Amino acid sequence: MPFRTLDTADLAGKRALVRVDFNVPVDGGKITDDTRLRAALPTIHYLSTKGAKVILLAHFDRPKGKVVPEMSLAFVAEPLGKLLEQEVAFASDCVGPEAAKVVNGLENGGVALLENVRFHAGEEKNDPDFAKALAANGDLYVDDAFSAAHRAHASTEGLAKILPAYPGLAMQRELEALDSALGNPRKPVLGIVGGSKVSTKLDLLNNLVAKLDRLAIGGGMANTFLYAQGHDVGGSLCEKDLADTARQIMATAEKSGCELLLPIDVVVAKKVAPGVDAETRELSEVQPDDLILDAGPKSAQRLIEAMESSNTLIWNGPLGVFEVPPFDEATVSAAKHAAKLAKGGKIVAVAGGGDTVAALNHAGVSGDFTFVSTAGGAFLEWMEGKTLPGVAALEI
Ligand code: ADP
Ligand code: MG
Repeated sequence: MPFRTLDTADLAGKRALVRVDFNVPVDGGKITDDTRLRAALPTIHYLSTKGAKVILLAHFDRPKGKVVPEMSLAFVAEPLGKLLEQEVAFASDCVGPEAAKVVNGLENGGVALLENVRFHAGEEKNDPDFAKALAANGDLYVDDAFSAAHRAHASTEGLAKILPAYPGLAMQRELEALDSALGNPRKPVLGIVGGSKVSTKLDLLNNLVAKLDRLAIGGGMANTFLYAQGHDVGGSLCEKDLADTARQIMATAEKSGCELLLPIDVVVAKKVAPGVDAETRELSEVQPDDLILDAGPKSAQRLIEAMESSNTLIWNGPLGVFEVPPFDEATVSAAKHAAKLAKGGKIVAVAGGGDTVAALNHAGVSGDFTFVSTAGGAFLEWMEGKTLPGVAALEI
């Protein structure tokens, strides 16, 4: 990969400015899920062990360039220190004398967290003067926040232009996983795209049909494709005005030799509610008051066979309304099978997306996938084939 790696960096006594994602979920002032803190630990440990002074930069919430006391990052220092088993100093500003005082007070191996970078308007504007003010506290820049890499902000992009820039360990792992799934994958590559609407995933579908050997389409968006092929989808979620767009995507797939796998049978109900009467139907049997809420067992089986004959799987979007059993069945069976193949070293299986992560957790298999990205928007933009400014800035 065209990046420097931290193992080549001269770290002892150096000030490492590390961009992390500490935009954690909070309820009543308490962190409800510390996944993001944990994700940053390997890089912090690594730098600290090598004798660097570790200076953490992060945003929290949307203060829009002003100091909003409720959006201070101060509350993160203590829980982070507990996880690190090391004291974390806190500076009440990320630039200027307050930041400098705390940074200058660090010993080699010490860790400091600086206040919310979005308290300054220059952050989201990627103002070069603000980036310079941040850079004043560092000798090198380490970006460990892939989830913020789709934004060209001072702390995610601008700093990389001023200081020697490195991906952090979590960032490096994510870039390697993504590369093995879509950049330089072992073919054949199978994609699964599901979720609710075609309209939210147009760029993604267009990019994937041009690159993949096979693409399975599921979830609500499959209804739009079925409708575009002339099937009756009853009262299902369906973007009828996108029928032409769906036909264009099918034509692109055909031209670029990407085999499309649309549902061949479906699970329907009269409404979305737990324990409601669900029925499996052939496509020709869908009734006017049916809601298609999941792929049927034949579709799920065919998807599993496609996995068996693929070397790589890239997945975004559940195949049905997985939040409401029994409409989780196709998603869960596909997830379990992918996990089994990945665990056995038979395929590289990479997945991402907010609801996709929830669905894989629901199936109990996230840990067996090769990689599950929690990066949300950045992951989707990467799947759309877009250049992420925060990643591009790290390239040498
Ligand atoms: P992600 O967050 O992983 O990118 P999306 O947000 O695109 O995924 O889609 C997830 C949503 O799609 C889920 O809330 C799920 O209930 C919904 N969904 C899946 N299949 C259907 C369907 N057949 N009809 C309506 N909604 C669906
Ligand atoms: Mg979602």
